Amino acid sequence: MFSLLVSRNVSFLSTPTARYMSYISRKSGLPYFKTPNPALRTSCKQVLQIQNHICHTGRRGFSSLLTVIGGAAVRRWWFKRPPETRRRYTNTARTYRLTIIGMTTAFMCLIGTFLSCCMELDPWTDLWRLFVFSERTIEVYDRINVAAILAEMTGKRCLLETEHPTYRRVASVMSRLLDANNGVDEIRNRQWSLVVVNHPTVNAFVSASGFIFVFSGLAAMANDDQLSIIVGHELAHVMLRHTNHITSVNFAVHLLCLTPVSMVLSVALPFLWAMLAVMMCRLVLYVCVGLTKERSLETEADGLGLLLAANACVDGTQGYLFWEAMSKIYGPSTRTWWLETHPTNEIRARHLHSLIPAATELQKLAKC
Ligand SMILES: [Zn+2]
Repeated sequence: MFSLLVSRNVSFLSTPTARYMSYISRKSGLPYFKTPNPALRTSCKQVLQIQNHICHTGRRGFSSLLTVIGGAAVRRWWFKRPPETRRRYTNTARTYRLTIIGMTTAFMCLIGTFLSCCMELDPWTDLWRLFVFSERTIEVYDRINVAAILAEMTGKRCLLETEHPTYRRVASVMSRLLDANNGVDEIRNRQWSLVVVNHPTVNAFVSASGFIFVFSGLAAMANDDQLSIIVGHELAHVMLRHTNHITSVNFAVHLLCLTPVSMVLSVALPFLWAMLAVMMCRLVLYVCVGLTKERSLETEADGLGLLLAANACVDGTQGYLFWEAMSKIYGPSTRTWWLETHPTNEIRARHLHSLIPAATELQKLAKC
């Protein structure tokens, strides 16, 4: 739940799309797009499937395929050489093995130096974080994704118009949160936009540039305080630049690990076996690195989101209560929690419970 995706500006959006979206800056709490109420339908499953895939670039899978095809070509070329020629090449490689090892090591060190130059100390978490891409690059990619999602949702009438009571309620909660945290640069200097999806799914997600998507199912289940903590969670994802960071981590993993391993495997093994081995490698890396990282970022966003909400005088116990309720509704966590992008409901509840004293302290400072 509450997944990430990338996005930016709205100038590229068509007018019909804009009818279902308001721009909620720190100054204006009310939506200012007004339209007649269209008939709404809830058959938005296809659109939701798009959302699930939006934060992953298909190009990574494509690059692995290219690597395997390249390796297969090298392998084919190698076995077409006469035995004498192969022996000569092997002897040459043995003679210059130290040079080859040295050059490979130097190349990897070069990449390592580049990545270390991309590390930044995050002021919110006090952790060194990898940010390979500029925010501008993320925005460009994001613009395409958000335009596609909104066009699809508008076409299928999945969105609640800005006049709808549910939309107004979520907008009001979000405005209160933004106003209370107006002193935070990352919040004040960004244009935040709200989209409410008319679907019973209990979910919300955010784009890297501040488009917050809330599902009507979530709005129906959560009270205002809980909704505020959840919107705070989404704000936190953007403030902490999680999209850039997770994309950078995936990039580094591919560059330093998957690509070299794929090259070796695709040269050493027949094509189909190489494909299978590379797919296994990708899966292992995704589970061990990608999913673990995503879960840790979700926990981070939960914590900061609660504190943002506390700053808006929201009851700090409501986050914990919400996840407890979620746990009761959707059942206890399964044994395959390690295959999930988000921590289990129980873990989230425990984490938010542990932060109640900090939230209370913040409320006192905010003179709630
Ligand atoms: Zn999240």
